[in-house]
Amino acid sequence: MENDILKVLYSQQDIHDITTRLAAELRRDYAGKNPLVICILKGAIMFMTDLVREVDDYLEIDFMDVSSYGNETESSGEVKILKDLDASVAHRDVLIVEDIVDTGRTLHYLMALFKTRQANSVKICTLMDKPERRIADVHADYVGTTVPNEFVVGYGLDYAERYRNLPYIGVLKPEVYAHDEG
Ligand code: 5GP
Ligand code: MG
Ligand code: MG
Repeated sequence: MENDILKVLYSQQDIHDITTRLAAELRRDYAGKNPLVICILKGAIMFMTDLVREVDDYLEIDFMDVSSYGNETESSGEVKILKDLDASVAHRDVLIVEDIVDTGRTLHYLMALFKTRQANSVKICTLMDKPERRIADVHADYVGTTVPNEFVVGYGLDYAERYRNLPYIGVLKPEVYAHDEG
Protein backbone atom coordinates (compact mmCIF):
# COMPACT_ATOMS: atom_id res chain seq x y z
CA MET A 1 0.00 0.00 0.00
CA GLU A 2 2.82 2.42 0.88
CA ASN A 3 4.22 1.80 -2.62
CA ASP A 4 1.19 3.60 -4.05
CA ILE A 5 2.11 6.88 -2.38
CA LEU A 6 3.86 9.54 -4.46
CA LYS A 7 4.56 11.92 -1.58
CA VAL A 8 3.68 12.49 2.05
CA LEU A 9 2.00 15.84 2.69
CA TYR A 10 1.44 15.54 6.46
CA SER A 11 3.33 13.10 8.64
CA GLN A 12 1.97 11.54 11.83
CA GLN A 13 3.86 14.20 13.76
CA ASP A 14 2.38 17.01 11.62
CA ILE A 15 -1.12 15.62 12.24
CA HIS A 16 -0.47 15.32 15.96
CA ASP A 17 0.69 18.95 16.12
CA ILE A 18 -2.45 20.07 14.28
CA THR A 19 -4.88 18.14 16.51
CA THR A 20 -3.13 19.39 19.66
CA ARG A 21 -3.45 23.01 18.53
CA LEU A 22 -7.12 22.64 17.50
CA ALA A 23 -8.02 20.75 20.69
CA ALA A 24 -6.64 23.63 22.78
CA GLU A 25 -8.81 26.09 20.83
CA LEU A 26 -11.89 23.90 21.27
CA ARG A 27 -11.30 23.45 24.97
CA ARG A 28 -11.12 27.23 25.38
CA ASP A 29 -14.18 27.99 23.20
CA TYR A 30 -16.43 25.19 24.46
CA ALA A 31 -15.64 25.30 28.20
CA GLY A 32 -18.80 24.44 30.12
CA LYS A 33 -20.89 23.97 26.96
CA ASN A 34 -20.95 20.17 26.66
CA PRO A 35 -20.89 20.34 22.84
CA LEU A 36 -22.26 17.67 20.52
CA VAL A 37 -19.30 16.71 18.35
CA ILE A 38 -20.49 15.25 15.05
CA CYS A 39 -18.10 13.10 13.05
CA ILE A 40 -18.88 13.00 9.34
CA LEU A 41 -18.25 9.41 8.25
CA LYS A 42 -16.09 7.92 7.13
CA GLY A 43 -13.29 10.33 6.33
CA ALA A 44 -13.26 12.23 9.63
CA ILE A 45 -13.11 9.21 11.92
CA MET A 46 -9.38 9.26 12.67
CA PHE A 47 -9.32 13.03 13.07
CA MET A 48 -12.35 13.13 15.38
CA THR A 49 -11.09 10.36 17.66
CA ASP A 50 -7.62 11.94 17.96
CA LEU A 51 -9.10 15.40 18.46
CA VAL A 52 -11.58 14.63 21.25
CA ARG A 53 -8.97 12.63 23.18
CA GLU A 54 -7.06 15.87 23.57
CA VAL A 55 -10.03 17.90 24.82
CA ASP A 56 -10.12 17.38 28.57
CA ASP A 57 -13.72 18.49 29.14
CA TYR A 58 -17.27 17.15 28.85
CA LEU A 59 -18.57 16.58 25.34
CA GLU A 60 -20.71 14.07 23.45
CA ILE A 61 -19.99 12.42 20.13
CA ASP A 62 -22.29 11.31 17.35
CA PHE A 63 -21.91 10.17 13.74
CA MET A 64 -23.50 11.06 10.47
CA ASP A 65 -22.91 9.64 7.02
CA VAL A 66 -23.74 11.64 3.93
CA SER A 67 -23.00 10.81 0.34
CA SER A 68 -20.90 13.21 -1.66
CA TYR A 69 -18.22 11.44 -3.66
CA GLY A 70 -18.97 7.75 -4.05
CA ASN A 71 -15.94 6.12 -5.58
CA GLU A 72 -14.97 9.01 -7.81
CA THR A 73 -12.86 12.05 -7.14
CA GLU A 74 -15.51 14.57 -8.18
CA SER A 75 -18.49 15.79 -6.18
CA SER A 76 -21.92 15.10 -7.65
CA GLY A 77 -23.41 18.18 -6.00
CA GLU A 78 -26.11 16.04 -4.46
CA VAL A 79 -26.14 15.40 -0.72
CA LYS A 80 -28.02 12.44 0.68
CA ILE A 81 -28.23 11.27 4.31
CA LEU A 82 -27.00 7.65 4.55
CA LYS A 83 -26.96 7.57 8.36
CA ASP A 84 -28.57 10.20 10.53
CA LEU A 85 -27.62 11.22 14.07
CA ASP A 86 -28.79 9.34 17.15
CA ALA A 87 -28.93 12.53 19.20
CA SER A 88 -31.14 15.58 18.77
CA VAL A 89 -29.23 18.76 17.95
CA ALA A 90 -32.02 21.01 19.28
CA HIS A 91 -30.60 23.60 21.72
CA ARG A 92 -27.16 21.98 21.50
CA ASP A 93 -23.85 23.56 20.61
CA VAL A 94 -22.92 21.50 17.58
CA LEU A 95 -19.40 21.05 16.30
CA ILE A 96 -19.16 19.35 12.91
CA VAL A 97 -15.86 17.53 12.45
CA GLU A 98 -14.81 16.98 8.83
CA ASP A 99 -11.75 15.59 7.12
CA ILE A 100 -11.65 18.13 4.30
CA VAL A 101 -13.76 20.97 2.93
CA ASP A 102 -13.58 20.85 -0.83
CA THR A 103 -16.52 22.26 -2.83
CA GLY A 104 -18.23 22.95 0.51
CA ARG A 105 -21.49 21.40 -0.66
CA THR A 106 -21.64 18.79 2.10
CA LEU A 107 -21.12 21.26 4.91
CA HIS A 108 -23.38 23.87 3.38
CA TYR A 109 -26.15 21.30 3.46
CA LEU A 110 -25.38 20.17 7.01
CA MET A 111 -25.15 23.71 8.42
CA ALA A 112 -28.62 24.47 7.05
CA LEU A 113 -29.99 21.14 8.28
CA PHE A 114 -28.78 21.57 11.87
CA LYS A 115 -30.07 25.14 11.98
CA THR A 116 -33.48 23.89 10.82
CA ARG A 117 -33.27 21.32 13.60
CA GLN A 118 -32.79 24.24 16.00
CA ALA A 119 -29.22 23.77 17.13
CA ASN A 120 -28.12 26.55 19.47
CA SER A 121 -24.91 27.00 17.49
CA VAL A 122 -23.22 25.18 14.62
CA LYS A 123 -19.49 25.39 13.97
CA ILE A 124 -17.13 23.50 11.70
CA CYS A 125 -13.78 21.97 12.55
CA THR A 126 -11.94 20.56 9.55
CA LEU A 127 -8.55 18.95 9.36
CA MET A 128 -7.98 20.27 5.85
CA ASP A 129 -9.34 23.08 3.74
CA LYS A 130 -9.08 23.21 -0.04
CA PRO A 131 -10.34 26.77 -0.71
CA GLU A 132 -9.46 26.75 -4.42
CA ARG A 133 -12.26 24.27 -5.07
CA ARG A 134 -15.03 26.04 -3.15
CA ILE A 135 -18.44 26.28 -4.80
CA ALA A 136 -20.82 26.62 -1.82
CA ASP A 137 -20.37 29.48 0.63
CA VAL A 138 -18.87 27.72 3.65
CA HIS A 139 -16.52 29.02 6.28
CA ALA A 140 -14.79 26.61 8.64
CA ASP A 141 -14.31 27.96 12.17
CA TYR A 142 -11.35 25.70 12.94
CA VAL A 143 -8.96 24.69 10.18
CA GLY A 144 -6.06 22.32 10.69
CA THR A 145 -4.28 23.17 7.47
CA THR A 146 -4.93 24.55 4.01
CA VAL A 147 -4.08 22.15 1.20
CA PRO A 148 -3.34 22.70 -2.48
CA ASN A 149 -5.74 21.46 -5.15
CA GLU A 150 -4.58 17.83 -5.08
CA PHE A 151 -6.50 14.67 -4.22
CA VAL A 152 -5.22 13.44 -0.86
CA VAL A 153 -5.57 10.08 0.89
CA GLY A 154 -4.78 8.57 4.27
CA TYR A 155 -5.69 9.20 7.92
CA GLY A 156 -9.35 8.43 7.16
CA LEU A 157 -9.47 9.71 3.59
CA ASP A 158 -9.96 7.17 0.83
CA TYR A 159 -9.57 6.57 -2.82
CA ALA A 160 -12.15 3.90 -3.81
CA GLU A 161 -12.44 3.00 -0.09
CA ARG A 162 -8.73 2.23 0.19
CA TYR A 163 -5.93 4.02 2.07
CA ARG A 164 -8.04 5.17 5.03
CA ASN A 165 -5.71 3.22 7.32
CA LEU A 166 -2.55 5.06 6.27
CA PRO A 167 -1.31 6.87 9.39
CA TYR A 168 -0.28 9.95 7.38
CA ILE A 169 -1.75 12.03 4.54
CA GLY A 170 -0.31 11.80 1.06
CA VAL A 171 -0.87 11.93 -2.67
CA LEU A 172 -1.19 8.81 -4.83
CA LYS A 173 1.01 7.99 -7.79
CA PRO A 174 -0.77 8.71 -11.10
CA GLU A 175 -0.55 5.07 -12.14
CA VAL A 176 -2.87 4.10 -9.28
CA TYR A 177 -5.69 6.00 -11.02
CA ALA A 178 -4.54 4.95 -14.49
CA HIS A 179 -4.77 1.31 -13.40
CA ASP A 180 -8.44 1.80 -12.46
CA GLU A 181 -9.35 3.30 -15.82
CA GLY A 182 -7.74 0.50 -17.81
P1 5GP B 1 -17.28 18.72 -0.50
O1 5GP B 1 -18.74 18.50 -0.26
O2 5GP B 1 -16.73 19.88 0.32
O3 5GP B 1 -16.97 18.87 -1.96
O4 5GP B 1 -16.47 17.43 -0.08
C1 5GP B 1 -16.99 16.51 0.75
C2 5GP B 1 -16.14 15.28 0.93
O5 5GP B 1 -15.45 14.90 -0.23
C3 5GP B 1 -15.05 15.43 1.96
O6 5GP B 1 -15.55 15.38 3.25
C4 5GP B 1 -14.21 14.22 1.62
O7 5GP B 1 -14.77 13.08 2.20
C5 5GP B 1 -14.31 14.18 0.10
N1 5GP B 1 -13.09 14.81 -0.45
C6 5GP B 1 -12.90 16.06 -0.85
N2 5GP B 1 -11.64 16.28 -1.26
C7 5GP B 1 -10.99 15.11 -1.09
C8 5GP B 1 -9.64 14.67 -1.29
O8 5GP B 1 -8.73 15.40 -1.71
N3 5GP B 1 -9.37 13.37 -0.97
C9 5GP B 1 -10.31 12.50 -0.50
N4 5GP B 1 -9.93 11.26 -0.24
N5 5GP B 1 -11.59 12.88 -0.28
C10 5GP B 1 -11.92 14.17 -0.57
MG1 MG C 1 -15.81 13.86 4.59
MG1 MG D 1 -14.40 9.48 -0.01
